[in-house]
Amino acid sequence: MKAEAEIKYIHPVFKKKEYDPFTEATLQFERAAGYLDIEPWIYQRLKYPERELTVHMAITLDNGRVETFTGFRVQHSTLRGPAKGGIRFSPDASLSECKALAAWMTWKCAVVDLPFGGGKGAVICDALKMSENELEKLTKAYTRSIIDIIGPYKDVPAPDMFTNAQTMAWIADAYCQSTGRLEPAVVTGKPLCLWGSQGRAGATGTGLFYVLEETAKHLQMSLKGKKVAILGFGNVGSSVAKLAHKAGCKIVAVTDIFGGIHNENGIDPFELEKQTAKTNSVVQFPGTDAITNEELIELAVDILIPAAVEGQINKENADKVRAKVILEGANGPTTLEADEILNDNNVLVVPDILANAGGVTVSYLEWVQNLQRYFFTEEEILEKTEKKMKKAFWDICNTKEKQNISMREAAYILAVGRVAESMRALGKAA
Ligand code: GLU
Repeated sequence: MKAEAEIKYIHPVFKKKEYDPFTEATLQFERAAGYLDIEPWIYQRLKYPERELTVHMAITLDNGRVETFTGFRVQHSTLRGPAKGGIRFSPDASLSECKALAAWMTWKCAVVDLPFGGGKGAVICDALKMSENELEKLTKAYTRSIIDIIGPYKDVPAPDMFTNAQTMAWIADAYCQSTGRLEPAVVTGKPLCLWGSQGRAGATGTGLFYVLEETAKHLQMSLKGKKVAILGFGNVGSSVAKLAHKAGCKIVAVTDIFGGIHNENGIDPFELEKQTAKTNSVVQFPGTDAITNEELIELAVDILIPAAVEGQINKENADKVRAKVILEGANGPTTLEADEILNDNNVLVVPDILANAGGVTVSYLEWVQNLQRYFFTEEEILEKTEKKMKKAFWDICNTKEKQNISMREAAYILAVGRVAESMRALGKAA
């Protein structure tokens, strides 16, 4: 029996109307599995995560009250190497979201051909409302809760939404207190003083920009004067905004969780960053009008960069997108239904598992440096990252052109194909 036969079977849970991240991820995988006609045993093993861990942590807050927080760590695959993927702190985090994000990490690492599988973690909390002291306690408690399944050769966490280099340093500390020695390779995205890597902080945005440059070449368009709208001005959105601005693009609109700003003549992301450093928001940036997320998605721009959460471009708004290119800075920002509408409307969607792989690529280089205790310069990091990202872009483009499919389908075919090939070599018997 071939996987295709099974792909026609849609589990009742997948018929649910509302957006479910793991359903989306599974359907994307199934589509690639169908194209590749992979063997059922491979299909079945890759369809579900290898491991899902849910933990609860009771923390004493600064006001003396005790609150219990729930967290997750999901390992989708450890077949091609340790599970790799970020940890997010978010009030909307869920196990389904972690499962989807972990699977996307497996495919992302395979697209750029890194020796990692995929994982993801989260803690349900509102980090913006917590003190430094509370965040440190929570991070260390979470690390102790998942300590048995992480490690340099098992599962290597990294930053994601509302976590950063400081969070990674706390993880390293909690892990090292239990092992009795500093093992920096247990986590990536650390501060430089704890053996983090040059270039890691802005790596996802830098990688996005490399992919944007290649997209422009592929479409034979110049980036000069191109209008760009960005959903999200966190680490990813702000880094890519600065690079695109330097390359001559006009950043005409930016939104964040508090609201958004718009100016047809362009917004200076360097000035905007000075404001966000103080106020935590883009809202009320001088010389701009207010704009909502929905209005931003519908703007007449050349390039739309969703760099926030999943599912923001969906069947309700996909038809209204006027951008020629969508560059997915976030993980899973476009639903499958939206993907079809965008394809029909000839919008080029540069998929997340390629577009935002710059972060994990520099994470890989950080891990390599940590294991060897030998460090690269920023130029070396950027050069290696650029090479990997650009190779992945053209590998995907070639598959897309040859098979006349979307870039997302081509990226999945490449990724799932690579993982399946490794599985075949390892053998079928458990
Ligand atoms: N959280 C980032 C991502 O989704 C980085 C993961 C990593 O570096 O392991 O790609």
